Amino acid sequence: MSSANAILVEQIDAVLPQTQCGKCGHGGCLPYAAAIADGEAINKCPPGGDTTLHTLAQLLQRPLEALEQPAEAPQLAVIREDECIGCTKCIQACPVDAIVGAAKQMHGVLEAECTGCELCVEPCPVDCIDIIAHPQWQAAHDELARQRYLNARAANGRARHRARNARLEARKAALTDKRMARLKQRLSPAKADSRAVTSTTGTPADGSPTVSTTGATASAATSSSSRNSALIARLQHKLSRLAAEDPKRHELEQRLSDLQQSTHAVPQQTRQLKMALAAAEQRRRLAERHLQHCYRQAGPDEIDAAKQALEQARSTEQAARAALEQSPSLD
Ligand code: SF4
Ligand code: SF4
Ligand code: SF4
Repeated sequence: MSSANAILVEQIDAVLPQTQCGKCGHGGCLPYAAAIADGEAINKCPPGGDTTLHTLAQLLQRPLEALEQPAEAPQLAVIREDECIGCTKCIQACPVDAIVGAAKQMHGVLEAECTGCELCVEPCPVDCIDIIAHPQWQAAHDELARQRYLNARAANGRARHRARNARLEARKAALTDKRMARLKQRLSPAKADSRAVTSTTGTPADGSPTVSTTGATASAATSSSSRNSALIARLQHKLSRLAAEDPKRHELEQRLSDLQQSTHAVPQQTRQLKMALAAAEQRRRLAERHLQHCYRQAGPDEIDAAKQALEQARSTEQAARAALEQSPSLD
């Protein structure tokens, strides 16, 4: 994004009401601001209503259009606490972390933080959330008080939504770390098995004179795939020359089967590690972009959270790269 476009997105975002409701068809106000800067219609924000529409038309020098959906007055979610079963689905849906509660316990909405976005209503399995007119809006009896309320809601909504996004990013990065650790753990014994199989099957009990077994230790791990391929070919050739009732046949078949399994295991593990690295790189790039965004638009707390998320993403990427470098490569 060019810096001129980034400034325009900021200006548009500053006009939007920050309920983060998604009724414009985007995942929040900032993505809609970016879409408007790219040419999308300006009439899709019901919480902003006519005021936001007029301001946007003026800012962008665009003609006025009718609102796509009816304008909405500020709202508040209220949980009927005696009916709440504490499933936490509403907490997961709330874009501004305005719901408090723990699993299997009664939940409540923080009145000052709720933007009235309604996103908690649909996931509630017992339909115990009501949407009412926001009391602070109703209590505002003049234009100044109404504007003060809307400004506070927008500032809160923006800050809390970004803080939540940074927290979710950090959690995703931590989960990726855990997955990487589990993957490495799974990989270690497999590598040991692979070396063991190479070592035993390389023993020339079948009279094979050309396959060396002395190097089947650490260095054999990296070239085990090609060595095993040569061994497999030799064993298959030997088996084809043995009579069906030959007593050596069973032993050779067993050895061939072990060898084929270990040879296929290595590329599969390597592919998994490559995918994990690609995912970690992607996550790091997203975290970098998010931090740049925070530097431009967010406060110190969000910048710190974004920095932490980036650090975690970088260490995950390092771990993924190290795991891949240590794995036997695809031949
Ligand atoms: S308030 Fe809702 S509809 Fe308006 S821009 Fe934000 S997310 Fe979109
Ligand atoms: S409590 Fe419900 S209505 Fe209020 S901000 Fe959260 S999700 Fe939106
Ligand atoms: S979704 Fe409904 S039942 Fe579940 S915790 Fe929230 S209010 Fe309670």
